[in-house]
Amino acid sequence: MKMCKSRLQCTVKMMVLFNLDVQVIQFNYKLNQIFRPAGFSDPDGFDVICSKTTSLDVVTVPFSRIAPSGSRRMDVAAVKALGPRQNVGELEAKVLSRAALSKIVLVNREECELKEIWVADTTGEIKLTLWDSLISQVDVSKSYCFSNLATREMQGVIRLTTTPSTRVVEITQLDVPDEGRDDPDDGAASTTLRGVVSGVQIRARHRCPRCHGLQNQISANSITHRCDACNLLQRSSVYGLTYRGTIVLTADQQEHSLTVTDSCINAYLARYRVAYSENDVETIEEHFLNLPEVEICVNNDSLITSLIQPLSQNRVDQSLVAANDDNTVTDGEAAQVVEDWEAAALV
Ligand SMILES: [Zn+2]
Repeated sequence: MKMCKSRLQCTVKMMVLFNLDVQVIQFNYKLNQIFRPAGFSDPDGFDVICSKTTSLDVVTVPFSRIAPSGSRRMDVAAVKALGPRQNVGELEAKVLSRAALSKIVLVNREECELKEIWVADTTGEIKLTLWDSLISQVDVSKSYCFSNLATREMQGVIRLTTTPSTRVVEITQLDVPDEGRDDPDDGAASTTLRGVVSGVQIRARHRCPRCHGLQNQISANSITHRCDACNLLQRSSVYGLTYRGTIVLTADQQEHSLTVTDSCINAYLARYRVAYSENDVETIEEHFLNLPEVEICVNNDSLITSLIQPLSQNRVDQSLVAANDDNTVTDGEAAQVVEDWEAAALV
């Protein structure tokens, strides 16, 4: 429970009641005999503790009931007015065409990929951190309904992050101006290189949907698999596949050793409808090696942020059919592990 500055208005964030013989459904209650703990968890409010002597009275209050923020659709202005670590049930927003910051960070000693983008609606704009498989589901200048996001605070500014239960659904284009200006302090600067792939190494590993730990191996014949990291036994099918690799690009007689991420590989494979089977990374490697030329955007960390065939080479081989529908995002049902998982992004 969180009390606001005014004593009259209090916002119930979460309430856990034990052994109380009442139906707690949409009534206003007054809690008697509660006390305030010594430590404050939130500078804007405080927790209250109920004891055996606490009782509840049904009362009337001079303000209307407001649903918890996580259960309703919000706009950007309302999200920015929230504090940190709040849930955002739904947000419809357009992805702005600004440079996005891509990073690989260690979470629980495992590499995770993140991308910071800007989204906006008619009430404002806000930064959103996309994680792992969600990165390749979002395109610049398109509009989406993002569900189950959470707020974070960085340098006094509220921003959004995806959680393991976030879903992204494309919607009709929102009428939001997109000036395309870049923030020079964003760290999202990138360089474009055009050349030939002279070497490539890609590794495919399964990731646990619950703890996001990478798996050493999942037996192809086994229906279940015990996570190497969290030890949970789950159906093998829930472990999504993640690619990671190195591309050596020869451009202007110089060799560049560049990191290629899962989102970048998935975006490429989908765009050019490359046929591949899930564990057959050699097919993907040979595809890159056989390209006459590639155009690569690379950021200051030697991380490839986009990989395309230059326009002159841009052709889709119609004989190839995307073979792999199993490679879709796994349902991240577990919201609890997200704390550790995302904390690294805010370092
Ligand atoms: Zn796990």
